[in-house]
Amino acid sequence: MSTDPLPLDRRQLFIGGEWRSASGGGRFDVIDPADGSVLTDVADGTVDDARAALEAAVAAQADWAATPPRERGEILRRAFDLVTSRADDLARLMSLEMGKTVAEARGEVTYGAEFLRWFSEEAVRVHGRWMQAPAGGSRLLTVKKPVGPCLFITPWNFPLAMGTRKIGPAVAAGCTMVVKPAGQTPLTMLLLADLMTEAGLPAGVLNVVTSRSSGKVSEALMADPRLRKVSFTGSTDVGKVLVRQSADQLQRVSMELGGNAPFLVFADADIDAAVAGAMIAKMRNMGEACTSANRFLVEEPVAEEFAAKLAERMDALRLGRGQDDGVDVGPLIDADAVADVTALVDQAVGAGARVVTGGTTPDGPGFFYRPTVLVDVPVDADVNRQEIFGPVAPITTFATEAEAVERANATEYGLAAYAFTRDLARTIRLAESLDFGMIGMNTGLVSNPAAPFGGVKASGFGREGGFEGIEEYLDTTYVSLPAG
Ligand code: NAP
Repeated sequence: MSTDPLPLDRRQLFIGGEWRSASGGGRFDVIDPADGSVLTDVADGTVDDARAALEAAVAAQADWAATPPRERGEILRRAFDLVTSRADDLARLMSLEMGKTVAEARGEVTYGAEFLRWFSEEAVRVHGRWMQAPAGGSRLLTVKKPVGPCLFITPWNFPLAMGTRKIGPAVAAGCTMVVKPAGQTPLTMLLLADLMTEAGLPAGVLNVVTSRSSGKVSEALMADPRLRKVSFTGSTDVGKVLVRQSADQLQRVSMELGGNAPFLVFADADIDAAVAGAMIAKMRNMGEACTSANRFLVEEPVAEEFAAKLAERMDALRLGRGQDDGVDVGPLIDADAVADVTALVDQAVGAGARVVTGGTTPDGPGFFYRPTVLVDVPVDADVNRQEIFGPVAPITTFATEAEAVERANATEYGLAAYAFTRDLARTIRLAESLDFGMIGMNTGLVSNPAAPFGGVKASGFGREGGFEGIEEYLDTTYVSLPAG
């Protein structure tokens, strides 16, 4: 452990406005994926610590719900300013613990901070409705109230933004919360908790429990009837466990789960624009994004040109430590991730796929995998059916729009899809026939804090961001009134 990326007094649990050690004093290591070394360590929260965090959230709930919306909004706005002013520190921390380049991490700071600003503006726009009953007589009034204490469980791939996407709307709506960040990337969330406090968030509204006992911690909290909402971003398998657990106390749940995004390129598309879009949709976060383009479906006449141009761009990317100058692609998160990507590529090649570029791991330390383009990939290869979560672009061809749509939809997932075409009528048909929560038309990027982010089918339910995002944290009370 050389220079500590975060001071010891902040590598603790944050409960009721105080930084404290885990009960029992346990700690766990945070690993640098660029070389596998130990970066630092953080407190290993126990079930008792998680219960203490929920107590703090429950204790703070009534006062926080009664805090004027403008005040809640202004705290979020100050948090936006603080996060923005500390962008370099946050980006470096994220790059260290997660591996992405500092430039990419800065992009995530901008994206993540924007949820704080967006929901600072939404805090004062929560309102109900008033109407006359259709038959006359009574009046119908609705009142929006915060759902109450929440549990947030976040993944390692976007350590900041997956947090602010939940914390922003919850704070705006008047909810308190316990956050359990991913064990591999706890540092960014701890720094965020510090900045939220500096912005004026009262003690107990936001509590952070880092822990290596994720399952036990969430199970204990979800067994408590005072917890009213669970928002999870992560794998579909864990999401299903949490939905089952939510049944006992009938907690409200939002699930942002895995994806298997198709990327369709039609022969009428601007191929250079499609390649540029593919680079973003595939290589953002080294392919470790739920919205990553997973399957490239290219119309036969342009398939060769698209594959050659994409391979050229992928080949030019420079691998290395995310904090080093000139590096385009950082390491994957851990050795298991490299093994998973390797197995997918090997299976595809064994089934007849051809490697145009990449397909190997470089020599040396760290969890790297070369940007890879595969052609002649069998449609039923594992790489087309599973979420890759790495820098691999498998290309298959199609002959008709109907075939493209049918194959794009042939997945249990339904998060993001992308399509490149210059035909407006086709654009409308695709928007209506692709079975996904988000569609990027002639763009490789769908994420936007002002838009409702979320999926269908095995990609989960609920929406984050946009006008819809705050609704996940509000209950509706209907009041019937006599006409007078
Ligand atoms: P993961 O293994 O499901 O972990 C996500 C979070 O859940 C981590 O905080 C993890 O803690 C925790 N966790 C693990 N097992 C748990 C259990 N039994 N009960 C409660 N919590 C548990 O997913 P990941 O590998 O970190 O993230 C990758 C996945 O997230 C991919 O499938 C990706 O598509 C998805 N994702 C979806 C979105 C979206 O918005 N739809 C965004 C980003 C990522 P530990 O770290 O301690 O294990």
